[in-house]
Parts: sequence; structure tokens; C-alpha cells
Amino acid sequence: MKPTPTRSAKIEKLRSHTFDLVVIGGGITGAGVALDAASRGLDVMLIERNDFASGTSSKSTKLIHGGLRYLKNLEIGLVREVGQERAVVHEIAPHLVRPEKMLLPLVEGGSLGKLSTSMALWVYDFLADVEGDDKRVMLTKEETIAHEPLVRKDILKGGGFYAEYRTDDARLTIENIKTAEKHGATALNYVEATDFQYTEDKRIAAVICHDRFSGETITVNTRHVISSTGPWVDELRTKDKSMTDRHVFLSKGVHIVVARERLPLQHAVYFDVEDGRMLFAIPRLRCTYIGTTDTPYKGDPNAIPTYVEDVNYLLKGTNAIFPTVNLTLADVESSWAGVRPLIYEEGKSAGEMSRKDEIFESDSGLLSIAGGKLTGYRKMAERVVDRLGKQLEEAGGKLKKTNTKNIDLTGGPFADFAEVLAYEKEIAAQLEAASLAPDRAAYLVSNYGKQTPEIIAAALKRSEGTDVARLACAEAAWCIEQELTLYPIDWVERRSGRLYFDMPSIHPVLEEVLAVFAEAYQYTPDDLAAEREKVLAAIQWVSEFSTAPTEQ
Ligand SMILES: Cc1cc2nc3c(=O)[nH]c(=O)nc-3n(C[C@H](O)[C@H](O)[C@H](O)COP(=O)(O)OP(=O)(O)OC[C@H]3O[C@@H](n4cnc5c(N)ncnc54)[C@H](O)[C@@H]3O)c2cc1C
Repeated sequence: MKPTPTRSAKIEKLRSHTFDLVVIGGGITGAGVALDAASRGLDVMLIERNDFASGTSSKSTKLIHGGLRYLKNLEIGLVREVGQERAVVHEIAPHLVRPEKMLLPLVEGGSLGKLSTSMALWVYDFLADVEGDDKRVMLTKEETIAHEPLVRKDILKGGGFYAEYRTDDARLTIENIKTAEKHGATALNYVEATDFQYTEDKRIAAVICHDRFSGETITVNTRHVISSTGPWVDELRTKDKSMTDRHVFLSKGVHIVVARERLPLQHAVYFDVEDGRMLFAIPRLRCTYIGTTDTPYKGDPNAIPTYVEDVNYLLKGTNAIFPTVNLTLADVESSWAGVRPLIYEEGKSAGEMSRKDEIFESDSGLLSIAGGKLTGYRKMAERVVDRLGKQLEEAGGKLKKTNTKNIDLTGGPFADFAEVLAYEKEIAAQLEAASLAPDRAAYLVSNYGKQTPEIIAAALKRSEGTDVARLACAEAAWCIEQELTLYPIDWVERRSGRLYFDMPSIHPVLEEVLAVFAEAYQYTPDDLAAEREKVLAAIQWVSEFSTAPTEQ
């Protein structure tokens, strides 16, 4: 396997350059930090040890939401900040962060009363400055049934209907990284920070890196380091010998995916389950996904298993509120499991621990940021880069104020969501005219926005294969060139999202897509077999479930 010229050039820069800032960790937090810092004039290098967004940032519920639940814990500041951030993140990428009205059915014996829900949703809207048609509406029983006919009727009292946003966390991460690169940052996946080098006065001067593609060790010189390694943040704090008693606690969350026709919801629904928790069921193109669980996790954060017990818990809760659908294990097409990197709080359960972020600053200058939400990534990035600004000021430097609120992400700009919908129609017409799977328009635009015509143009240059395969191959080739997609699994899982949301679309194009990677990276027959095996193993991992060991 050989690297592409783009990767080789970046590795050369890594080897030869002294950066202002090395950002370790290419999840949404690191991506946001890289964009914030680069757009404020710093010379930034972002490194990620696996693929971008391969940690928690591809395993969330994919909601850009204010966290209604946190109102219960009186986390007013958090709800206000993330609530307000929803509109900002929607504005900078409306094709990717889409309005999603949420239905909250109120049932007898449920945790939510009519009056308390009405007040909570009012406060929720008030804190986030929600206006106009987006303001919450309280529904009668009949109106709730009209909004969602599948909901259980005998115990239904009414409902709440309010505004949230849905995204693709991995794509949000990659578009932030590409936007950071447009502002001068450099980003590399499959490069792991393994250790630090220090000056005589014990400040970090370099990050020792392992290029997992070539096996090479590279010393990367830098003036500053921010670790945004989520669940792994304590690993690097330990390497830096700066661990304190404030540490990360991992809480596992599982989601399952069923075909849309098996749970044909009109809206996203946030509903009670019998143990007092709440679940989301969210329709998304050809499927509906359901989540999540919230249990302490002590295993390997790189391979978080979904057990039959997790799946059955989600199925049971869903069947209770939508009693006519009778979902079974056989309906589950795919799944994902992630861990929330929460800041540990003594005496609290996983569900009760705050979702607030925290910054740790060590004597060596290492800044680490963990906790928080996908929704709040932009503000988290601003806060930690502001903290870096203080270090710069102490050394006589000065950093510009952040302006990421006004930076459209790659894939845009769109004036508003109406323009996104009109654009989707235009793309469907283009695909139709080119005899290229017009039903893929919504998928392409929500993934790639205004970059879609580049993929269509590339597909038109391909003469072999079905229309679906030509389009998939063009998409994969474009992702290799534009999005540092190193392995086929990166495309299947995170660039295209097919592993989770469109499992049936993988097999018909797999061999052709593998051939695209084989050509770009000059695979040997053994490389090809190994990469095919990785994709097949991932399909098995997300769709076949073992029983939980007694001790999880
Ligand atoms: C089940 C679940 C549901 C959630 N739902 C939502 C939701 O709907 N909305 C919301 O706002 N938030 C949600 N969250 C929270 C949100 O997903 C996380 O807050 C966010 O993704 C954390 O991103 P991160 O970048 O900090 O961590 P990560 O995404 O885990 O990124 C850290 C990265 O660092 C890399 N790394 C680690 N060590 C090294 C090293 N030594 N060198 C190089 N790289 C390294 C890792 O490979 C990883 O990619 C959810 C979380 C979970 C688990």
C-alpha cells in the first residue's frame, strides 16, 4: 500500500515544520479547536490516531439539541449555551444540521406532567431565544395522535412539540476539519501522539508521533499543545504526568437502526420508558434509529460492544410506546455504541453526571479539554483557544478574537434551509438527466452539500457499472482526494454513513469501491483482501450481537 501524494506532503510538513499548535484528537472537539485556532491566525497541526471522528464523534444521537433533560438537573447555563448554539451551528451548515421537530408524548404514569412539560419547554425555548414557528406547542391527545399515529393511545394524555436539529456527527467533524484546512491548518489521520518532549524548564516542545500508515516515528515540533482526546484524555495527562483527581468517567450509549418502513415515524419522538429514562426514535431518510442507553463502561473505548441486552432494552421501550410495530431483533439492520467522556462526580449515576466540559492546564503547558456535547463544540473550542491566548499573552503574543460564528463550513454556503431543499430538487433533476440514481439526491446533499456536483461530474466520467455503482465509486474517489479517506472502512462508516444508515447499499457496490481504493493506494492482492475483510468484519460487528458477560 502506498500513500497518496497529499498524505506524503503532509507527513513531510509534520517532520520538518515547527507549529504554533498541535491539536491531538480529531473528533468534533479537536476539529472545532483546529478551525478556531487556524482562523485566529495560528499555524495548526491536527493529528488523529485512527480516522477522524472514529471516537465518540461518530457514535452520538446526532442531535444538535439543547438537552431538555438537563433542565431537570437545573443545568441552566449548559442548556442556555447549547440551546443557543443550535441556531449558530445550523446557520453555518444548514445542509448538515437540519431542523427536526421533536414530539414528546405525555402518558399516564410517565415522568412528565402536562403543566410541568409546558413550563419546561417554555423555559427551554426562552433560554435558547427560540422564536416564531419554532416555539413549542402543547398538543391535545387528538393532536398528538394526528402528529404521530403510531403512538400508544390508551394511556396518552397529550404531547409537546418543539424544535431541535439533527446532524451527522462524523460529517460535521470532517467539514470542520476541511474548513480549518481552508484557513491554513494541516490535518492528518492515522497519526498517534505517543509521548512528549520537554524544554529544560519542563514546557512541552514536541509531540512524539507514530504514523500508523507507514510505521514511522516522527518528532513534531510545536510551541503549544491542546489535547482534545475525549475518552482518552486522561491517557495523555498521565503521559504528561499531570493527572489530578478530576478525571474522565465513561458512560456507554447504544443506538439501533431499523428500516423506515418498520418504524415509519412522521417526526422524531422523545419518549418515556419504564425505568424512568427517556429514548429518542429519529427518522432519517430510509431508516429510523433509536437510542440510547446510559451505563458505566470500563472496557476498551476503541471497541465498544452492543449486546443483545442493550438491543432488547431499546426494542422493549420502543414497542411499548409504538405498540403496533412489534419490532424484533431481526429488524435491527445496524447499531453503534459510543462512550460519553463525562467528568466524574462522586456519588452520581452516569445519567446524573453533568455534560459540562472542563479544561485542564498542566505546568508543562498542555491544555486538555473533555466532557461537553457535540452541540457545544464551537464554544468549547473558543474557550480552550482563549485559554491558549492567555499562555501566548504571558509570552508577549496576542490572539485575535474568535469569529467561527460567521464561518460557513465546507459544503455550503446556503442562505437558509429553504435553499437546501431547493438545491436537493436541483440535484435530483441533474441525477435524473444523467440517469444516475435520482433517489440519492437527499443523501448526497445532506452529506456533501454544494460539493455534490463534483461527485456527479466524476460519476459521469465513469462508463462501467450500474448507475448506483458509478455514483458510489465517484463518491469514494472524491472522498479519497478531498477528505483524507485512507481505508475503505473510513468511507463506508464515516464519510458516507452507509454502515449505519444504509447497510443494504454496501454490498452491491463493495467490490467496485474496493477497486477505487486499490487504484488510489496501489494495493497488492493481500491488501485488497485485508481491506475487504475489515469492511465485512465491521458489518458483522454492527449487526450481530452477543450476550453481555455477567460483569460489564
Ligand atoms: C451515546 C451518545 C450519544 C450522544 N448524543 C449526543 C447528541 O445527540 N448531541 C450532542 O450534542 N452530544 C451527544 N453526545 C456527546 C458527544 O458525542 C460528545 O460530547 C463528543 O462527540 C465528544 O467529542 P470529542 O471530540 O471530545 O471526543 P471523540 O470524538 O472521542 O474524539 C477524541 C479523538 O481523539 C483521538 N485520540 C485519542 N488519543 C489519541 C492520541 N494519543 N493521538 C491522536 N489521537 C488520539 C481518538 O481516536 C478520538 O477520535 C453523545 C455521546 C454519546 C456517547
